[in-house]
Amino acid sequence: MSRQRQRDTRPEIIVRRALTAIGLHYRLNNRDLPGSPDIANRSRKWVVFVHGCYWHRHDGCPRATTPKRNRSFWLEKFQNNQERDRRVCEELEALGYRVATIWECQTRVLDKLERGLLKALSPP
Ligand SMILES: [Zn+2]
Repeated sequence: MSRQRQRDTRPEIIVRRALTAIGLHYRLNNRDLPGSPDIANRSRKWVVFVHGCYWHRHDGCPRATTPKRNRSFWLEKFQNNQERDRRVCEELEALGYRVATIWECQTRVLDKLERGLLKALSPP
């Protein structure tokens, strides 16, 4: 289910607004990059993923619950998601991209989100 990442979800719109607010430009729809990141800047070489805490298993987050029924099925599914995220991240980094992962629950405090994005995406 998580493979068909939803577009224009509320957390994603918040992240896009935050990027604009801190003066970072991005392009949407980057299907030719690993993981098809929804938000990327090719010339500055960064991408942003906005991950749902549940499907992508935000470590230690109360939203990353596990259903009690069919537990092993879900655990395997979640593990596949995590492995895929890791692989995509490695592929992008191998291409010279910086990768920022923003979790859904991190989009609630705007100034913190903006600071985090600046820190993650500013050139070293
Ligand atoms: Zn979370």
